Amino acid sequence: MKIANKKVTAERLVRDALEKAKHFSDYNIFTFLNEEGALKKAREIDEKIKRGEKVGKLAGVPYALKDNFLSPEGETTASAHILEGFKSPIMATSVKKLEDEGAIMIGRTNLDAFAHGSSTENSYFGPTLNAYDRERVAGGSSGGSAVAVALDIVEFATGTDTGGSIRQPASFNGVYGLKPTYGCISRYGVVAMASSTDCIGFFTKTPEDMDLLMSVASGRDPKDMTTLPDYYNAGDGLTDAACPSDTLQAAQAKSSRSTEHAASVKPSRIGIVKDFDNESVDKEIRLALKNKIDLLKSKGYEIVELEMPALKYALAAYYIIVPAEVASNLSRYDGVRYGFRSEKTKDLDSLYIDTRSEGFMPENKRRIMIGNFVLSSGFYDAYFLKAAKARTLIIKEYEKAFSKCDFILTPVSPNPAFKLGEKVNDPVSMYLEDVMSVSLNLAGVPGLAIPAGKTKNGLPVGLQLIGPRRSDKSLIEFSKVLNDNNEGGKN
Ligand code: GLN
Repeated sequence: MKIANKKVTAERLVRDALEKAKHFSDYNIFTFLNEEGALKKAREIDEKIKRGEKVGKLAGVPYALKDNFLSPEGETTASAHILEGFKSPIMATSVKKLEDEGAIMIGRTNLDAFAHGSSTENSYFGPTLNAYDRERVAGGSSGGSAVAVALDIVEFATGTDTGGSIRQPASFNGVYGLKPTYGCISRYGVVAMASSTDCIGFFTKTPEDMDLLMSVASGRDPKDMTTLPDYYNAGDGLTDAACPSDTLQAAQAKSSRSTEHAASVKPSRIGIVKDFDNESVDKEIRLALKNKIDLLKSKGYEIVELEMPALKYALAAYYIIVPAEVASNLSRYDGVRYGFRSEKTKDLDSLYIDTRSEGFMPENKRRIMIGNFVLSSGFYDAYFLKAAKARTLIIKEYEKAFSKCDFILTPVSPNPAFKLGEKVNDPVSMYLEDVMSVSLNLAGVPGLAIPAGKTKNGLPVGLQLIGPRRSDKSLIEFSKVLNDNNEGGKN
């Protein structure tokens, strides 16, 4: 990242970033620009440097924050009307870690409301435009963050990935996007979507920057009981012994050692998933995959064809498990505790009903209804329980796959960025966008979206590298093998 060479001041970097953000305002990337706060911090850092004081690893680096991360700077809205006006009293652990190292948030980025979606069109504030084609979607839900990095406004941006929301917009905009292993980065202070699959991650222009951010953000957090011990910085895939109190995590690790990763293993066998290479996948995406496979072969890697039949249940299982968790997590928005409250309200019941009716987007309501339906007595066994069993099959499928290969390479989505308006009124076709991304979230394994060239029309194509749990660091390192030209970022 630029500041590392200390040739520029933090104030200059922040001013440039803010100027660019304004220059690209018609892309609808930001829900809030942190002009005063960012400049104040930049000046403080410059002063420190002048005085010869020690500064952090990210000192003066401007970044964009997906608007579902809590911090006292600006309102945290998750791009939802129901959270408009909400000023958070707390700061997410991940944000605190970045800021402690001197990173400077220049703005909050647009997303599908509550991160429900694959195009950023479900935002209360309207869609973000694709960095390469303004008639196309940015992808989602972290569309604003992906475009902020792709247009080189900021050095990096944060994202959340519950079922592809980092990897898909990264691939639609030609940047790197990592969904880490579940539990690698604390979820504390991030608006919850589906707590059993939510992951915090980043968008960057290079694998090196991704590594740096991961080294800063990962690790155990007493405020999030699902966080893992800091295996990322330990340089070892297996650090449970160091944390005897983590009984749940230790038990999980023990039961699935074959999906765990030992950092010392050098990857040599790369898996490809037969089922993902079919007619319903765009030709140019298949070609990009083929090119990378050829590159790997030419570098001496063994390509292993995998049969992973359980993955065909992933999308259906995801769209049962996730709405069930969404319905529960969104029940807290009642018009009393956070943000917006309906004006119409006359009594307590109508306060809840009117606020929720007016405050949620149609996609939020759809998920609340599906979630409550699949959890209701009489339907629980037929839907939720079945989906939970399918999830176990998917976890086992990945375990099996990683006994045959080190990493897996697949497309991120079946197509490059689609036209604005093309899918937004057809929820099922929007859900189908996630067919290749959601299985990773159900299994808790990491996935890194990497830029893999462009279509004839100049749209970026992304591929994802999938690894066993805790292989994040090796995955990032290995992505360099696939980077045969200067990819990552538009400018
Ligand atoms: N597109 C997926 C969904 O709508 C993923 C969302 C996400 O990862 N936040 O559920």
